[in-house]
Amino acid sequence: MIRLELVPAFSPLEWPVFRQLRSGDVFGRGPAVTSARTRAIEPRTATADRVVQSVCPFCAVGCGQKVYVKDERVVQIEGDPDSPISRGRLCPKGASSEQLVNNPLRQTTIRYRAPYATEWQDLDRDTAIDMIADRFLEARRRGWQDRDDAGRPLRRTMGIASLGGATLDNEENYLIKKLFTAAGAIQIENQARI
Ligand code: SF4
Repeated sequence: MIRLELVPAFSPLEWPVFRQLRSGDVFGRGPAVTSARTRAIEPRTATADRVVQSVCPFCAVGCGQKVYVKDERVVQIEGDPDSPISRGRLCPKGASSEQLVNNPLRQTTIRYRAPYATEWQDLDRDTAIDMIADRFLEARRRGWQDRDDAGRPLRRTMGIASLGGATLDNEENYLIKKLFTAAGAIQIENQARI
């Protein structure tokens, strides 16, 4: 779509070629080609109250982020040039992570749909954690194999497995591996290896 902009005080000196010569922007790549609207706006980063360093939560690369906060709300997230990992860069997913915080569709409660139910319900966190722990222990017990047919010790369960995703970092993967191995699971995998 072509937008025509009305210059309030029109003057031949505002013609592009004159603007280029007047402003010293002879190739027309800088101030000579900015519109009045562009000149009037300022970036969200300029009005932020403070900037917080963080790490992109999307994938295991762990790019550094600068989180701009205004009135205790995240207003913009950009790449952190101080990060030795990403040196100021973010991929499109990381660059859009402000929407993770502010999207009105963001899910902020624990949702549960019981077996055969057609509706979802909210659960409080302690109830949800207890339900997961109960299922974990029960599946482990039901799938437990103590010995093989020859009487050799197995001490493992076929009832539980772990499949990690790319958003898990080293420390989380370390703890998950420890937990599942201690519980007797032998199928412990990660998306990165599949
Ligand atoms: S999703 Fe993109 S920006 Fe985020 S850590 Fe991975 S590569 Fe970096």
